[in-house]
Amino acid sequence: MKYILALDQGTTSSRAIVFDETGRLVVSHAEEFQQIFPQAGWVEHDANEIWQSQLSASLASLGLLASKHGEAALDKVCAVGITNQRETTVLWDRATGEPIYNAIVWQDRRTAVRCEALRQSGKAKTIQQKTGLVLDAYFSATKLEWLLDNVPTARVRAERGELCFGTVDSWLIYKLTAGRVHATDVSNASRTMLFNIHTLAWDKELLALFNIPTSVLPNVVPSSGVLGETDRALFAPVGLKQSIPIAGVAGDQQAATFGQNCFAPGTAKNTYGTGCFMLMNTGTTAVKSSNKLLTTIGWSSAQVSPAYCLEGSVFMGGATVQWLRDGLQIISKASDVEALAASVTGADDCYLVPAFTGLGTPHWDGFARGTLVGMTRGTTRAHIARAALEAICLQSADVFSAMQADSGIALSELRVDGGATANNLLMQMQADVLGVPVVRPRVTETTALGAAYLAGLAVGVWQSAAELSEQWAVDKRFEPQWSDSERKRKRERWLEAVARSCGWAKK
Ligand code: ADP
Repeated sequence: MKYILALDQGTTSSRAIVFDETGRLVVSHAEEFQQIFPQAGWVEHDANEIWQSQLSASLASLGLLASKHGEAALDKVCAVGITNQRETTVLWDRATGEPIYNAIVWQDRRTAVRCEALRQSGKAKTIQQKTGLVLDAYFSATKLEWLLDNVPTARVRAERGELCFGTVDSWLIYKLTAGRVHATDVSNASRTMLFNIHTLAWDKELLALFNIPTSVLPNVVPSSGVLGETDRALFAPVGLKQSIPIAGVAGDQQAATFGQNCFAPGTAKNTYGTGCFMLMNTGTTAVKSSNKLLTTIGWSSAQVSPAYCLEGSVFMGGATVQWLRDGLQIISKASDVEALAASVTGADDCYLVPAFTGLGTPHWDGFARGTLVGMTRGTTRAHIARAALEAICLQSADVFSAMQADSGIALSELRVDGGATANNLLMQMQADVLGVPVVRPRVTETTALGAAYLAGLAVGVWQSAAELSEQWAVDKRFEPQWSDSERKRKRERWLEAVARSCGWAKK
């Protein structure tokens, strides 16, 4: 049996999962790390802590593998795959490997004013055309520019070639190879707002716009392919003596799409975590969005040209259920929502628009706020719970429709993963609202699985995507049960409720 070590470096924890050659999860371990909020709207991580937690999770997982399957199993670990929180920006000293500042996390809004100024000067269109992204503080470019302009001596050191920039994948690669490799994969590069997704190269015009010296940039490599080897000393403490090829890298949402076997154009997945992230494979075409979706690179290998994806996000997915629990306190744990919502047959024409932090795709209204409409004397907490679950599905349906409109492809099913997909009622509602089946796979750790797949393909554990598709197994398929007219009415009423939530915080 061969094994692959997948590193899943997320926003709140670092996980290490060992998969075997049948795609089965063998062991896993996660470590949390600190969230740093130095000022309102700022979010940072200590890059050294990211690395230490990832290393320690890896050692724990490899230790578990050895105790479960014997020391000899360690000799069979044949590749490392990496998947990571995207856009988060690290700048470190090339020689010492010391970060010169904390990592600026994707959620950080410190460069929002800079982005607004760029928008005023008419740069949004060029940026979207070259990078597929909307001009926003979310992406790495303005975070890196901020570091170069605000950390003392950073710019002069960068210009002397002394600094390395990277998203978290690059940082982990650098540490795993003991500083020998400074690289990133195309999927992560496509989230920096500095990378041209059509020419597949760092874009000179954008580098000039953000005043980024080329010397800081990582080398861009395919998502599937050996890019270096782990330093031998790293895993020696648990008895793993060989160096291991680092053979797969992709940003978390792209890795999840790959892990969901969305290999064919026109396949899509939605992840139901805190928020919801939907990605659709559009094949070798970078579809330009007219419905406020992002165009991004999914993955690539040395042999095949990159797969592009359309991406849309909903801010309040599972977090809506957290609000029922912590804000309204009408449930005591997230899973209670299913029974409560199932105790009524419908939401009684009540709609909850969970625009607590504005609305994402496709409405993009930062001033929208949470709204609950349609209540009567008969409305109970059960109706509100039901409306909350419907809201998760209806928001995802809006993204789904935008994807179909942009791509001109009718999606025939939606593959799902993430914590909230344990909720069968939610999944059934999603199928009803979309009018296509919702498919939940057996392995729901799809992000890490995607990284393992990319790595395993590169080192020959698997020969082709077709072989992976044979392994991929369905846990449950939810068939839509509503009539077209029921669906149409529901979605129209929902959009009326959304309209009532829009713009509320402008005054
Ligand atoms: P993340 O990776 O964003 O932390 P997870 O994939 O771990 O998210 O999913 C956790 C989210 O799913 C939480 O927001 C939680 O409220 C929600 N959740 C968990 N269980 C259920 C459930 N049975 N029904 C609905 N939502 C749930």
